[in-house]
Amino acid sequence: MPKKKVLVTGGAGFIGGNFVHYMVNQYPDYDIYNLDALTYAGDLLKHRAIKHNENYHFIHADIVDRAKMISLFERERFDFVLHFAAESHVDRSINEPSLFLQTNIMGTQALLDAALKVGVEKFVHISTDEVYGELDFDATLLFSESTPIQPNSPYSASKAASDFIVQAYHRTFGLPMNITRCSNNYGPYQYPEKLIPLTILSAYQEKSIPVYGNGCNVRDWLHVYDHCTAIDKILHEGVNGDVYNIGGHNERTNIEVVKTILSSLSKPETLIEFVEDRLGHDKRYAIDPTKLEQLGWTPKYSFEKGIEETVQWYLCHREWWEPLLLEKHIQN
Ligand code: NAD
Repeated sequence: MPKKKVLVTGGAGFIGGNFVHYMVNQYPDYDIYNLDALTYAGDLLKHRAIKHNENYHFIHADIVDRAKMISLFERERFDFVLHFAAESHVDRSINEPSLFLQTNIMGTQALLDAALKVGVEKFVHISTDEVYGELDFDATLLFSESTPIQPNSPYSASKAASDFIVQAYHRTFGLPMNITRCSNNYGPYQYPEKLIPLTILSAYQEKSIPVYGNGCNVRDWLHVYDHCTAIDKILHEGVNGDVYNIGGHNERTNIEVVKTILSSLSKPETLIEFVEDRLGHDKRYAIDPTKLEQLGWTPKYSFEKGIEETVQWYLCHREWWEPLLLEKHIQN
């Protein structure tokens, strides 16, 4: 049997990067192509352990470059496309919405056109629970796959638009696809502008830790390794055309997350600094992953174990995050 060719867009970023590692090791009989524009959020240092593997390939390209995407697909004839590449930080989307629309919407369309022209076995679009908008603080309310799409930030609106386009290409042109909507991820190689790595590194350096509003906004956390196994499951067993929510029943307020990390590092809570709330800050996200669980997927990590390992990972990988802090791209 010929080897499967797997295109991972955004494979130099946080989740895509972990997924590339996972696939290279899990499927030595697949060829994994990491396509990335290497924006501020992407780096290849995270792939130094696999860069000489025969089944790992890197393509430096921008998904918005439609002509390039089409010629690339014509040349490589990918079997699977896993589309992670995106502008992903909500605060940046508030400061610069147009870049988010360009990358997340037009970039997705360019890939869809290329996939449609050449044909693929499956296109998996990696989306987010943020497209559903926000929930009230009522534990019985959860996002299911049929929850109406009601995004609130420019980031989530751009992701919702891309979800609709993927669905339209399936319905109108028959493109085989799945859409995944995962809750907030944490774990190794997350860019230090996001809550968990920002808190770990600020606490470690005994700098103040900014927390929006009163810290009571709720997020549902999943270790990135569990996100990778879920995508693997959906890639191979997901029903063509279906949407799958991904989550591990781990709701925490932001302040709980920060305090857990402070306690793990034995640092004082006086480092916490409440700052003006984010514009349009969603109150609560919480995922119902029943449909995915019915495929036989279960997460490996409890939140406590995952956070402890993540804190230790950052402490042991200064060579990765120190240069990023010096680049001063961090916005918060
Ligand atoms: P990230 O910001 O860490 O990585 C994004 C990657 O995409 C970077 O490597 C960047 O260089 C690349 N990229 C950006 N624009 C590009 C372009 N025009 N062409 C090619 N590559 C480009 O993001 P992440 O946190 O790893 O998120 C990955 C995906 O998962 C996104 O689609 C995001 O919406 C989704 N998601 C993220 C989370 C989360 O908690 N981080 C949760 C659910 C879903």
